[in-house]
Amino acid sequence: MPIPLQSLNTLGLAAWTDELVRVTGSTQLPAISQAIANKDRFILGGGSNLVLQSNQDAPLALVCLQSSLKGIVRLPAREGFSRLRCASGENWHDFVMWTLAHGLGGLENLALIPGTVGAAPIQNIGAYGVEVGERIEAVHAWDFERHDHVVFPTESCQFGYRHSLFKEISFQGPWNRPRFFITAVDFALAPATKTQPILSYKGITQRLAELGVTEPPLPMQVAHAVISLRKEKLPDPNEIGNVGSFFKNPVVSEEFAKALASQNPGLPVFHQNNQTKLSAGWLIESAGMKGVQRGEAAVSADHALVLTNLGAATARDVLGLAHEIQEAVMARFGLWLEPEPQIIPPI
Ligand SMILES: Cc1cc2nc3c(=O)[nH]c(=O)nc-3n(C[C@H](O)[C@H](O)[C@H](O)COP(=O)(O)OP(=O)(O)OC[C@H]3O[C@@H](n4cnc5c(N)ncnc54)[C@H](O)[C@@H]3O)c2cc1C
Repeated sequence: MPIPLQSLNTLGLAAWTDELVRVTGSTQLPAISQAIANKDRFILGGGSNLVLQSNQDAPLALVCLQSSLKGIVRLPAREGFSRLRCASGENWHDFVMWTLAHGLGGLENLALIPGTVGAAPIQNIGAYGVEVGERIEAVHAWDFERHDHVVFPTESCQFGYRHSLFKEISFQGPWNRPRFFITAVDFALAPATKTQPILSYKGITQRLAELGVTEPPLPMQVAHAVISLRKEKLPDPNEIGNVGSFFKNPVVSEEFAKALASQNPGLPVFHQNNQTKLSAGWLIESAGMKGVQRGEAAVSADHALVLTNLGAATARDVLGLAHEIQEAVMARFGLWLEPEPQIIPPI
């Protein structure tokens, strides 16, 4: 019997798989690894960055593996930093709040991002001027090729904008044979009282002022500002299906950004980690696509970067709308937007 995945992806697409295996202990991995050695597989986290294409008559012909590994362990402190090992099946936001409640700073700008801890390094989740790779010490994984545990120090993970080595086909393998199953992630976090708040995103300082925070904010206060901003801007996937930003902000050369900005006054240009990025949301809105609806899929009327499932959207509705957006932005600005979520199977 095909196994339904509709409640396991935040876009709420009706999708099915042949088999679902929940990994509850890392000691199970050697046996699972042997059992599925010659089978196609896919690793599912919280399903908040996926567009799943399948139906009941043609389910994904593979084994879906999901981490239910739990637990947060303290490692010996080093050079003033507390070190934590968090299992991959923990909920990301709950982990962030746990660190803050235990007097640790560094993850506050990443509060309320949906999904699991194990998926966080995959696209190097980022928000409000912080990327998770900046706080990661090491990534622990099971290697399906060598049938063994491996550890990747942060320097080897090649973290970049919405990118890590785990997104490289040459490293992680094709979409239906991922080589590494992340089991845990190690973080190095400073005490909250010694954490330098990252307030470069102007909305945060304004929201902190509105919340009555006048002193330099503590990490927990920054998290509350971020949570309140996110609740205001992004649709809650529990209420309306979505995967957050559907497209990455295009990374362009400084010259290209300047030329485009001179022709398009108001175009937001960001500089972060020596990269120049344009606002994909602004490009989509300016290409006239904000609020557009196709079938049961729509571009959010509040946030042009978010595609929503109005109730009964199919993957075809969502991907058709995404393609229309790409063409509209290409025609208007000469840029092809790259989707952020993983499309399974790829198109
Ligand atoms: C409302 C909303 C807001 C969002 N905001 C942000 C944001 O601000 N910044 C941001 O970066 N992202 C954001 N996202 C995207 C998403 O939340 C993140 O990418 C998140 O890390 C995905 O986690 P997940 O557990 O749901 O992974 P999934 O969507 O299930 O999987 C994503 C990828 O990770 C792989 N994967 C998952 N678990 C493992 C594992 N244990 N081992 C190996 N591979 C694994 C999957 O195979 C897949 O390739 C948002 C999404 C939503 C719905």
